Amino acid sequence: MRVKVRVTGIIQGVGFRPFIYRMAVKNGLKGYVRNMGDAGVEILLEGEENAINNFLKCLKKEKPPLAQIHEIITTKLGGEYEYTDFRIVRSSEEAELSGSVIPPDVAICSECLRELRDKRNPRYNYFFITCTDCGPRFTVIECLPYDRENTTMRDFTMCSFCKSEYTDPLNRRFHAQTVACPKCGPKAYLTTSSGETLQCRDPIREAGKLVSEGFVVAVKGYGGFHVAASALKDDPLMRLRRVKHRRQKPFAIMARSLEAVKSFAEVTPKEAELLTSHMRPIVLIKKNADYYLSELVAPGLHNVGVMLPYTGLHYMLFDVVDDPAFVMTSANPPSQPIVKDDDEALKTLGNIVDYFLFHNRRIAHRCDDSVVRVHGERQVFIRRSRGYAPAPVMLHEKASKCVLALGGELNNTVCILDGNKAFISQHVGDVENVETREFVRNAAEHLAHLTNSKVDVVACDLHPKFTTTRLAHDLAVQNGWQLIQVQHHFAHIAALMAEHSVDEIVGVCCDGYGYGVNGEAWGGEIIFASRNSSEIKRVAHLEKQPMIGGDLATRYPLRMAAGILQKRLNVEDWLMQNKRFFPHGEGEVRLILQQLRKGLGVIETTSCGRVLDAVAAVLGLCYERTYEGEPAMKLESAAINGKDVLQLKPKIESDFLETTNLLLEIFEGRERHAVTDLAFSAHAYLAGGLAELAIEKALENGVKAVGFSGGAACNEILTKLMRETVEAAGLVFLVHEAVPPGDGGLSFGQAVYVGLFHF
Ligand code: ZN
Ligand code: ZN
Ligand code: FE
Repeated sequence: MRVKVRVTGIIQGVGFRPFIYRMAVKNGLKGYVRNMGDAGVEILLEGEENAINNFLKCLKKEKPPLAQIHEIITTKLGGEYEYTDFRIVRSSEEAELSGSVIPPDVAICSECLRELRDKRNPRYNYFFITCTDCGPRFTVIECLPYDRENTTMRDFTMCSFCKSEYTDPLNRRFHAQTVACPKCGPKAYLTTSSGETLQCRDPIREAGKLVSEGFVVAVKGYGGFHVAASALKDDPLMRLRRVKHRRQKPFAIMARSLEAVKSFAEVTPKEAELLTSHMRPIVLIKKNADYYLSELVAPGLHNVGVMLPYTGLHYMLFDVVDDPAFVMTSANPPSQPIVKDDDEALKTLGNIVDYFLFHNRRIAHRCDDSVVRVHGERQVFIRRSRGYAPAPVMLHEKASKCVLALGGELNNTVCILDGNKAFISQHVGDVENVETREFVRNAAEHLAHLTNSKVDVVACDLHPKFTTTRLAHDLAVQNGWQLIQVQHHFAHIAALMAEHSVDEIVGVCCDGYGYGVNGEAWGGEIIFASRNSSEIKRVAHLEKQPMIGGDLATRYPLRMAAGILQKRLNVEDWLMQNKRFFPHGEGEVRLILQQLRKGLGVIETTSCGRVLDAVAAVLGLCYERTYEGEPAMKLESAAINGKDVLQLKPKIESDFLETTNLLLEIFEGRERHAVTDLAFSAHAYLAGGLAELAIEKALENGVKAVGFSGGAACNEILTKLMRETVEAAGLVFLVHEAVPPGDGGLSFGQAVYVGLFHF
C-alpha cells in the first residue's frame, strides 16, 4: 500500500521528523518525511497495510513531548513502490494548508543542562546548548519551513562534530536546527557601555560577578535584552530607577534555583510547577516574612515577579556568585518595544548600563517574558508571550472567516483566528507611536505568514483614535479586507465565552478604560451576551464618577477621590493637607476646587480601576500612578491580610452599583480602622455588589453563567469574593484560563467576536 499523510499542528522544530523516521523504520516502511512551507509535515509511506495502520496509531500516541498534532490527512496513492528506504528529505516550500505554526521558545532541557555541567562533554560550559527538545524557536525563525537556513543560525556553519550528531538518527540532536558547539556556534563576549570588547576568558561568569558586585549589565537573551542588576543592593536599583524613569514599577527577578526562591517567597506547589515548566514564565509570588531582597525590587507590593533561568547562559550567570537572584528586567526604552539588536542596544542602553553581555547570534523576533500569577490553584495570565506565543488557543468550533485582530492600545497583542485556532502574538506593549505601530504590523504579518492564513476581516477597537484602529483602517483599504470595530468590554466578554464555549453569559468586566458604545468612558460594566438571540449589550455598570482634569485624574488618583467625595462633603481642607502630592501644589488644589464647584468640562467614567485608585489615594497608599495599575495593585497588596470591617451592603440603584458612599465610608473609617482592613472592605464591597448585580441580571435573563473579565480580574481578592457570591447563588463562575483577562487578551476577544459570534 502507498499513502500520503499530511500533518498539521506544531510539528516543525520539535523533533517530529526524527520521530517519524524512527517509527517508519521500526514498522519496516519505506518512503520519506519532509517539512512543508506551511509549517506542516508531509509523509509518504510504502509498505504493508498493517504496518501503515500501526504507524498511524503510534503517530498520535507516541508523538514527541513538544509536538501538537491538529490534523492528520491521509490519502491513498496508486502506483508502484518507488523507495528502497525511509529518509528525511529536503523541505518543500509548498504551502497549501493553513493553521500549523512553529513552536514557542523552550527552556533548556534537563539533558542539555546536564551536558552543560559535564566536563567530558564537548559542550561543557557552552552557553548556547540546545537540542530537539529545547532552545529558541519562535525568536530564531525568519521564514518557513523551519530549516537551519531559514533561521538566524544560518550564520554558523556546523562543524563536523555537530554535523555528525545532526545526521545521526539515534542522536538527540538529529535534525535539531539550533545545534551548535563552542567550536562552530555563537560566541558570547563582554563589552563596556560604549561597546569596546573586554578581554576575558569567561565573559558570562564575569558578567555574573559584575552584577553581583553592583554593576548594571545588559544581557542578550533569546527574545531580546534584559537589564541585570543585583537584587540585594539598593544603589544599582536606585540608579536603574532614575535613568529608566521607573520610580515604582516592580522589576522582575531571575532566581538561581527554586530553593533560592523559597528563601524569600512563599511558593505553592502550583507556582513551583509553573516556575520550573519549560515555558519558564515570570510568576508573581507572595513575599515571605523573611523577605530580604532590596525593597526597591517591588516597592509597596506583597508579591514579586520571579522566573528561573531558561538558557545555559542564564544558569552560568550564577555560577561564581552566591546571590539568590538578580533583577532581570526587559530592556526597553520608555514606550518602545524590547530591544533585540546589538546596535540598537548600544544606542539606547549605553547610558543605562555599565557593561553589555552580547552574543553574536541575531534575534529574528522580539519576545518579552511571560508573566502569570496563581489564584488558588488557577493560573492567570498577566502577559502571554515567551514560551506560549505563537502556540494557538484551541477553540471548540471553527470560525467562518479568517480574522486578524489588532487589539487595543495598552499591553497589546494581535491575534489571527483561523478555523478553530486562535494564534495570539507575543506581547507587543503599549501602541502609541511609530515604533510600536510598526511592531504591531510586523507581528501581524509574521503571524499570518507563519500560519499561512488568508485574512478576510480585520478587527480593532471601537476607539476612533487608537493607533491600532487607524492601522486597521489602512490594512483594510490596502488589502481589501472587511473592517469590523468591536467595543472593548464586549471583546473581553466574548473572549471569556469562546474560552469556555458558552452561548450565554452575564459578564462582569472591570478595567481602567474602554471606549463605550455611547462614546463614554467605560470600565465597570455588566454585560449580557447571548448567541441564541445574537445580542450583546451593557445591562448595568458602576456609578458614573467625575474625572477632574480628564487623564490627569488617572495619573493623580487624589483627583479622582476628590471628585467623588465632593458630592457629599467639603474636601477643601483635606486637599490642602495633601497639597504636596500635587505637582503644582496649592495653586493646583485651588483650580481643582473651582472645577468641582462649577462642574464644567468634567468627564465621567464608570471605571472600576478609577474607584480602586481613589480608594488607594484616600488610604495614602498611592498618590501618583507611575505605572499602569499601580494604585489598584498597591491597594490589593494592602488588603491581602485584611478583613471586611465595614461590612457595607451594596447599594444598587436600578442599573448601577453606587460607589460614592463606599468612598465616603472609607474616608470616614480612616480614624477607626486599619488601612489593610479598609482596603479589604473596598474589595468586598465592589466584588459583592458587582456579583449581586450580575446574579440579578442572570436570573432575569435565565442565564446560568456569570463571568469576570478585564484587567481587574487579575486581582485575586476581587475574583475570590465574586466567585463565592456567584457560586452561592447556584450559578457557574467563569474566569480566563488561556488568555489574559487584561488587554493582552483583547485581540483574541475581538477575533472570536467577529469570527465566531454574530452579535
Ligand atoms: Zn535540550
Ligand atoms: Zn559544532
Ligand atoms: Fe480592558
